[in-house]
Amino acid sequence: MNHSGTIIAKIKDDNKIEVVRDIFFECNNCALCCKINEIPVIEKDITRILDHGYELDQFLKELSPVLIRSHQKKDSFIKAYFLKKKPFVKECVFLDEDEKCKIHKYKPLSCSIYPFAVRKDDESLLVIVHPKSVCASIDTDVNKEKSNTKKTVENLLSFEFLE
Ligand code: SF4
Ligand code: SF4
Repeated sequence: MNHSGTIIAKIKDDNKIEVVRDIFFECNNCALCCKINEIPVIEKDITRILDHGYELDQFLKELSPVLIRSHQKKDSFIKAYFLKKKPFVKECVFLDEDEKCKIHKYKPLSCSIYPFAVRKDDESLLVIVHPKSVCASIDTDVNKEKSNTKKTVENLLSFEFLE
């Protein structure tokens, strides 16, 4: 998942949220994100999935890590891996026949926060939304009354970003 995106909010050290862009987002469970993306998983995600009885070769594309940007420190990197796809299609190996996630309760952080991502800058965490082309449920053309940016970012704060 490495789409360019738009910064919608900044989260300061005290978890104070500064809204930068009004958007409206409500997931419609279309599962597009499970079919078009390379899904990065970090070591904590892998441990959680292993704890539920899966073996590494069932869900990791390769056992060699790649480096992705850390959320903790600006310009630093952490090791990540990618989820495996089903044979001959681009769907995630955990997507079931009903287009539901088999590991929904302990899915990777990047899936839990999609279509958002977080990046560190000098003073805050930046919350970025991916473009509408990869998630049709994002509306970036809304006024303050319709916007749920703040509520969305508050929900994101229930996940542990700092690795
Ligand atoms: S693509 Fe967007 S709307 Fe569809 S399941 Fe993923 S997050 Fe939800
Ligand atoms: S782990 Fe679940 S939510 Fe994440 S891409 Fe796979 S099926 Fe979708």
